[in-house]
Amino acid sequence: MSTQGQGDKRYDPGDTTLKFVDRPDDLDPLPPEEGDECLRAEMSCGHAVTPQSLTGWCRSLLDQGQYKFKCPALKKGTLLQCGAEWSYQEVRRLAVLTAQEMQSFEEIIARLAATEYCDFKSCPGCQTFVEREDLTNLSVQCTICTADKNKRYEFCWQCLKLWKGPAPRSDRCENDDCTNPDLQLLKTCKTTSLPQVQGVDTCPCIRACPTCGQKVEHDKTGCKNIICPRCQVEFCFVCLKLTPECLKTSSYFIPCSDGVAPRQTSIPVWHKN
Ligand SMILES: [Zn+2]
Ligand SMILES: [Zn+2]
Ligand SMILES: [Zn+2]
Ligand SMILES: [Zn+2]
Ligand SMILES: [Zn+2]
Repeated sequence: MSTQGQGDKRYDPGDTTLKFVDRPDDLDPLPPEEGDECLRAEMSCGHAVTPQSLTGWCRSLLDQGQYKFKCPALKKGTLLQCGAEWSYQEVRRLAVLTAQEMQSFEEIIARLAATEYCDFKSCPGCQTFVEREDLTNLSVQCTICTADKNKRYEFCWQCLKLWKGPAPRSDRCENDDCTNPDLQLLKTCKTTSLPQVQGVDTCPCIRACPTCGQKVEHDKTGCKNIICPRCQVEFCFVCLKLTPECLKTSSYFIPCSDGVAPRQTSIPVWHKN
């Protein structure tokens, strides 16, 4: 990981996972100042970038509220933008993001993604799609059925039956078969080892992302941390803390002082703040 300052991020010329090219930077067409020539690497779409130009472009997208990273370079010989979407993993690596940059990128991405995230289900009474606004409450009112029946109509987001029992509740309603399959999975999934991580030979194989609650599996290669595919925030699969917090007492391949977190008994709720 780079510990250098913002201005002098550089690729490691010995990094064989990057493809270096001898073309100018496609994101920053100005010729580099004399003696300031920086190695360029190729993105998955074929355009050439430097750590600075990629960081700068992606930062400007986030500043405009865009968390999908799209390539702004022009397609060869045209005036059309490439528009290819780069994953955060790719950006993070080729922009050589520092620890602080990663933390700030991930916070912004998670906040933007949460605002855009909508949870829709079809109402068991009238079959129209209803959006759930309060992600912590399983009891959801359908305005159409309420108007139709002239009395408050609430259904359960989990078992999709007429709501039974007191509300609000986040775990289940009082219908007999109301269970949360994701929670069941967290409770009953197999255990796995993380061969790359020192001394972790039994860890639940499925975890819920501490930021957004998405179910994730560890692919057993690489370090103990994973980037959540939904909110893009990186966390430790072993202790379930966010990576910067976990790394205070550990390293990428050694568990932190909290060890292996027990199976989760509730699913974290994504906060739209
Ligand atoms: Zn491109
Ligand atoms: Zn309805
Ligand atoms: Zn229910
Ligand atoms: Zn997540
Ligand atoms: Zn950890």
